[in-house]
Amino acid sequence: MLQSVDEAREFHREVPVLDLHADTPMLSNVSGYDINARHDRKLPKAINGIGHVDVPRMRDGGVAGQIFGMWTMPYPEILCPRSIHKQLDCIDRAIADSGGGMRRCWTGRDVREAHAAGTIAALAGIEGGQALRGNPGRVEEFAARGVRYIGLLHFSANALGKPAYGKGAQDDIGLSSVGHEVIDEMNRLGVIVDLAHINQMGFYDAIAASNSPPMVSHTGVHGVHPHWRNIDDDQLRAIGDAGGCVGVIFARKFLGGKGIDKLCDHILHVIEVAGEDTAALGSDFDGFVVPPVGLEDVSLLPNLTYALSRRGLSDNTLAKLLGGNAIRVLDDVPPAREILGIDKT
Ligand SMILES: [Zn+2]
Repeated sequence: MLQSVDEAREFHREVPVLDLHADTPMLSNVSGYDINARHDRKLPKAINGIGHVDVPRMRDGGVAGQIFGMWTMPYPEILCPRSIHKQLDCIDRAIADSGGGMRRCWTGRDVREAHAAGTIAALAGIEGGQALRGNPGRVEEFAARGVRYIGLLHFSANALGKPAYGKGAQDDIGLSSVGHEVIDEMNRLGVIVDLAHINQMGFYDAIAASNSPPMVSHTGVHGVHPHWRNIDDDQLRAIGDAGGCVGVIFARKFLGGKGIDKLCDHILHVIEVAGEDTAALGSDFDGFVVPPVGLEDVSLLPNLTYALSRRGLSDNTLAKLLGGNAIRVLDDVPPAREILGIDKT
């Protein structure tokens, strides 16, 4: 058991900590937010969406890596692919400007190597299938630039299916034929299917259609706090059974409370229902969330690790939650290197 927050921070240096979802690239794209520069931590009520993550504070928190989520305004859809490319440009530029402080990673193995080398691992994922503009062929275009997951839905219906909430939400319509084609393409190219924000029918359709493990990159759980944004126990078990992982979100609104203990409740529920091989971190930092008290930015992550240790999680289970499970899923869905022309090892 960890004896203090400092011990938790030390623990992070032994085991790679990888978060599944932070929306930082949109900040860079829209306001020039520099991921390499240290930013002040804002007061809780002021943070509302900006500036939770940067490289210096990731180092303070002992965080090994981040999968950067890239979302798009769905209307007009014609602008969505360009927005994704601009956000990818922001990530590439931040890596280039980091002086070796951050490196592009594709696989779990890459993340472990970056961690061993003391370099921050940067990965990318897309939030919302509108980025494809209804064309499954675009999966390859984005995958070749390092996109490791695509969230099929966001806050509006698109050619792939229907969201759990938002414009065009509908409970009785699952994945479309385009959605099935997109999943086939993602399976072929080694892109992980992300089921955050999708409605239940689409969720189960996608799991049945995918031949590789899925993830839910950022979500709360219904079993602790019933809410449209949270997934229920059957969904948790379905992800666990498919060998996937579930990133628990750091948003007071969806957790149903403002303390770290409430976040711990959600994480412990995932472990109880779906097993210790399923739980992961999916902060949604920089995604207009108000995080729990004591977790106001990425540097404070050891507070969560310490709290979970006090709630009885073993070091082994903590290692899985903090990054081990996410890394396993990245490795179980390897990118199709030859097709994508990935030249790095
Ligand atoms: Zn989201």
